Amino acid sequence: MSEPVLDVRGVVKVFGDNAVLRGVDLAVGEHQVVALIGGSGSGKSTLLRCASLLETVDDGQVLLDGEDVTDPRIDADQVRRRMGVVFQAYNLFPHLSVLDNVTLAPTVVHGRPKAEVRDEAMALLTRIGLAEKAGEYPDRLSGGQQQRVAIVRALAVRPRVLLLDEITSALDPELVGEVLAVVREVAAQGMTIVMATHEMGFARQVADTVAFLDGGVVLESGPPQQVLGDPVEARTRQFLSRVI
Ligand code: ADP
Ligand code: MG
Repeated sequence: MSEPVLDVRGVVKVFGDNAVLRGVDLAVGEHQVVALIGGSGSGKSTLLRCASLLETVDDGQVLLDGEDVTDPRIDADQVRRRMGVVFQAYNLFPHLSVLDNVTLAPTVVHGRPKAEVRDEAMALLTRIGLAEKAGEYPDRLSGGQQQRVAIVRALAVRPRVLLLDEITSALDPELVGEVLAVVREVAAQGMTIVMATHEMGFARQVADTVAFLDGGVVLESGPPQQVLGDPVEARTRQFLSRVI
């Protein structure tokens, strides 16, 4: 692998006496899609939050394009602008239209020209089939449409990496497919993605690497057919037997 876009090295995160991450290593190469799997409470969200500097790390490092972004001297806001993050639910600003949701960060935070950002946002919304919803408020959209807009909003800042935290978990089952289809397309366009997910079928089809988080470490990682199909670790097998 050439230099990873995102390189998590020995990351430790402790809440009180709960050591959630005990030395997590995860390198994500350019254009790679990494599916992060693991039981509920295994630390997937914590890892994504540490990687995106929404949490501080207690030990270890996170490197973005080779730069140690956990260095306390670094401007965390500046780093966060280079990442796109989408959570399980409640992603959109309810008081802003779909278009304003998408254009807010690129114009206000990144200071890019409004007209250019607007054109790019409309192109993105067209790609996901929601151009006609540009003027609507989020509460007029289905959960699936809202998550598709949330992905587009994260992409609008042209991030180096997209971090997705169980973005389909709060959706009605019939809406999951349309959101995963957008992720699949974004991946096909070459975006670097880390996604915590319970969608094993999707991970198998789209991920280049599956990383299994257990006991505060990445216990096993590799190509989906290996980790999901023929895992080395007994803990991985046990987990998969419960979810597949
Ligand atoms: P997952 O996303 O894999 O379900 P989480 O990262 O949400 O796991 O949680 C891992 C563990 O960290 C859980 O035991 C959870 O209770 C704990 N945890 C997460 N965030 C906090 C927090 N802000 N304060 C205290 N404990 C937390
Ligand atoms: Mg979680």
